Amino acid sequence: MTATTYYAVTAYGQLAAAQRTLDAHITSSATGLCLACGTCGPCPERRSAVVIFSRTLRLPRRSPGATRPELVGTRSTGPNWFRTASG
Ligand SMILES: [Zn+2]
Repeated sequence: MTATTYYAVTAYGQLAAAQRTLDAHITSSATGLCLACGTCGPCPERRSAVVIFSRTLRLPRRSPGATRPELVGTRSTGPNWFRTASG
């Protein structure tokens, strides 16, 4: 029982760390570069975080507008929920 609990806590911690990585290492829609480390996206850190989610068969939380689509001239066809989400 203890081993199962330990594994669950470890898996939860790995997913939380992977989510933080995905939230920071975002590939810009405008430049194609990672907003955190500046390399061509998706950067190695982001790819590693995606692998963790794929192994657990879970989906990461997504932040609408995080890739800054307005920088490439996208136009809104409805309520501007990108602006609302990013502040
Ligand atoms: Zn990065």
